[in-house]
Amino acid sequence: MALYSEKVMDHFRNPRNVGVIEDANGIGEVGNAKCGDIMKMYLKIEDDIIKDVKFETFGCGSAIASSSMATELIKGQPVSEAMKLTNAAVAEALDGLPDYKMHCSVLAEEAIKSALEDYNKRQEN
Ligand SMILES: [Zn+2]
Repeated sequence: MALYSEKVMDHFRNPRNVGVIEDANGIGEVGNAKCGDIMKMYLKIEDDIIKDVKFETFGCGSAIASSSMATELIKGQPVSEAMKLTNAAVAEALDGLPDYKMHCSVLAEEAIKSALEDYNKRQEN
């Protein structure tokens, strides 16, 4: 039995939205100790809509696939919708992850939330 779904392999081999947004207005960086994944998420938000999103992930295949899928899920969405993104939704969109790799999808959720928090903080100033 294959350990990873076709979708996980696809997003791992051809990750979407990799890179840096120079004029991002929301940036989040998170990491986990379990497999040493580090994820950095860049958001470009205009009129409360996520116009662009890019990420840099240094980590395992599941972390790369999760961040790639997560960016696809929130691109073009309003901030309020992106806030609701859960790691379960990311894993489901990937047709599942092995149990011991679920924490990598949690990281994708945390990276996006941390970038959105950064955006909100900038709005207050
Ligand atoms: Zn990982």
